[in-house]
Amino acid sequence: MQTIGLLGGMSWESTATYYRLINEGVKQKLGGLHSARLCLFSIDFAPLEALQHANNWQGAGEELAQVARQVQHGGADFLLICTNTMHRVADAVEEAIDIPLLHIADATGEQLRANQVSKVGLLGTRFTMEQDFYKARIEEKFGIVTCIPEEDARAAIHRIIYEELCQGIITEKSRELFLQEIEILADQGAEGVILGCTEIAMLVKQEMTDTPLYDTTAIHCQAAIERCLA
Ligand code: GLU
Repeated sequence: MQTIGLLGGMSWESTATYYRLINEGVKQKLGGLHSARLCLFSIDFAPLEALQHANNWQGAGEELAQVARQVQHGGADFLLICTNTMHRVADAVEEAIDIPLLHIADATGEQLRANQVSKVGLLGTRFTMEQDFYKARIEEKFGIVTCIPEEDARAAIHRIIYEELCQGIITEKSRELFLQEIEILADQGAEGVILGCTEIAMLVKQEMTDTPLYDTTAIHCQAAIERCLA
C-alpha cells in the first residue's frame, strides 16, 4: 500500500472528513484492521486565509510549497491538497516536490466524464467560482462547460463557507440558500452540481435534492484510495 500525503487544515473540519473517508475506504477494500498509511500536515488556517483575502497568492503558494515538502519527507508517495481553493497555487506546490499531486479538479473531471456530463454547476469560494484555475481545467481538460451562481449568491456562498462551514457551523438558513442555488443551476441546464469546496457536503446531502451532486471531498478521497491500493 502506498502512503497518502495530505496537506490539510483548510479547514480542519473538512480534513477530518478526508481522514475518516480514506480510512473507511481502505478498510472496506481490505477488511479487518486495515487502515490507510497516510502522512498529514494540518496547517493553521487563519494566517493562510489572511493571505488569500489579501490576494497574496504568491505568499500562500510559498507556504503550501514548504509544507508539501515536509509531507514528502514524511514518506508520502503522492499528495492531496485537501481544499479546492488552494489548488489556485497547485503549480507552486508541484514544483516544490518530487511526488505526484493528485489534483482535485482532475479527480472531479474524471467522475463527470464517466457520467457523461457536458454542463455542470459549480459552488465554492469566490476564488474557485470566479477565477480560472479550476473552471478552465474542467473545461479545457474534460470539455465540460461550467456555470456559476449570480454575483449576490456568490457573495453569500463565500461568506457562509468562511464564517460558518469552516468553523463547523451548520444552519438551516444556509442549507436552504445552497439548495436554492443548486436548483437555479439545474434550471439553467446543469446536469449536476460540483460541491467545489470541501466543507459543502457537511451542509448539503444528495438526498436533499434530485440534482446529482459531485462532492469533491468524497471524489478526491476515492481517487486517493484507488491510487494507494493500485
Ligand atoms: N475548503 C474550502 C475549499 O475547498 C475552502 C477553504 C479554503 O479557502 O481553502 O475551497
